[in-house]
Amino acid sequence: MSMLPLEQLLRKNILELTPYSCARDEFQGQASVYLDANENPYNGPYNRYPDPLQRELKQKIAAIKGLRPGQVFLGNGSDESIDVLFRAFCEPRIDNVVAIEPTYGMYRVSAGINDVAYRRVLLDEHFQIDAGRILAACDAHTKLVFLCSPNNPTGNSLNRAEILKSLDRFEGILVLDEAYIDFASEPSLMSRLDDYPGLVVLQTFSKAWGSAAIRLGMALASESIVKVLNKIKYPYNVNLLTQQQAAKMLESAPRVKDWVAQILQERERLRKALSELRLVKHIYPSDANFLLVRVSDANRLYTALTEQGIIVRNRNNVSLCLGCLRITIGTAGENQILLQALKALDQNFG
Ligand SMILES: *Cc1c(COP(=O)(O)O)cnc(C)c1O
Repeated sequence: MSMLPLEQLLRKNILELTPYSCARDEFQGQASVYLDANENPYNGPYNRYPDPLQRELKQKIAAIKGLRPGQVFLGNGSDESIDVLFRAFCEPRIDNVVAIEPTYGMYRVSAGINDVAYRRVLLDEHFQIDAGRILAACDAHTKLVFLCSPNNPTGNSLNRAEILKSLDRFEGILVLDEAYIDFASEPSLMSRLDDYPGLVVLQTFSKAWGSAAIRLGMALASESIVKVLNKIKYPYNVNLLTQQQAAKMLESAPRVKDWVAQILQERERLRKALSELRLVKHIYPSDANFLLVRVSDANRLYTALTEQGIIVRNRNNVSLCLGCLRITIGTAGENQILLQALKALDQNFG
C-alpha cells in the first residue's frame, strides 16, 4: 500500500502538538494515597478520574478482535472518531475528503464543522463502488476517503475487491466504517490492518452490541495513527460508567451472537411479508439490521405510520433512494405491529 509518511499527511499543528498531560498520565501504577488530581476523596469509585487511555477495556477489546491493544482507539461513539480524524489530518479550507454517496450523514456534517471540502462519488445503481472513480475524485489535498460497508442507508456490503483496490492506490487515510459488520456475511477488514497502514476501521457498540446509550465507538488502526488520535481527544473522553458497562458487554458476547441471529431471522421474515404488499415496490438486499424499501408514496406512508406511533426513517430525499423508507429490524412483536399497520394501509397505497 502506498500511504504517504504520516508526518506528511498530518496537519502541521497536530504533528507539533504537545498533548495535555493529566495526573493520570504522569503517574501510572498502583499507589495507596492519591493526592495528585484534586479529586474528592469520598464517593468512590466515581470520585476518581478514569483511565484516559482505557487500558483494561482496550485489552479486552483487542483480545476479542485479534488485534494488539495499541491498535484500538476508543471514542464517545464513532462520531468522535470521525471528528478526531478530521482534526488530525484535514487543514480547514485547504484539504478535502472523498466519500461515497449516499452514505452515513455524519461524515459530511463533520467536514462542515471542520470547514473541509466534502467530495461525493455517487454509487452505481446496485449501490456499488468503483475504485477508479473513487481515486479519480482524489487529488493531492485529499486526506481521507470514507467508505461504509455495509453501507447506511443502502444496507449492502461494498465490493471487497474494489475496497482493496482503493486501499492499494490511495495515498492518504481510508476510513472504512463497519458499524454493521456483525450483521454481514463477509468478515471485517480489521484483520488486514498490518497490510494497509492507511486503513482505519470504525466499529461501534451502538448496533449489534446493543449499547447505543453508552456512547462507545472504536477506531481500529496502526499504532502510529492511534497515537495521534489519542493526542487530540479530550483527556477523559470515555467515562468510567461506559468503560465498566462495555467490559460487562464483552463478557456476554454469546448473547450478542444470539441477538444477531434473531435479528437476521426477523429480517428475512420481514422481507418475505413486505414483498407480499402492493405498496412495496422493491426491497434492496441487506447485510445490515435494516431494510431499505421502495414504496409507492414514501412521504404519505411515512406520515401514516407516524400517526399510528410507528417511526421508520424516511430516505425519500436521499440520492438514489427516491421513494425509499429505511426500516430497522425490531423484535418479532414490533415487526408484527409494523406489518399489521402496513397491511391495513395497503388498499390506499397500491
Ligand atoms: C449507527 C452508525 C454509526 C454509529 O455511530 P455511534 O456514534 O458509534 O453511535 C456509525 N456509522 C454508521 C454508518 C452508522 O450507521
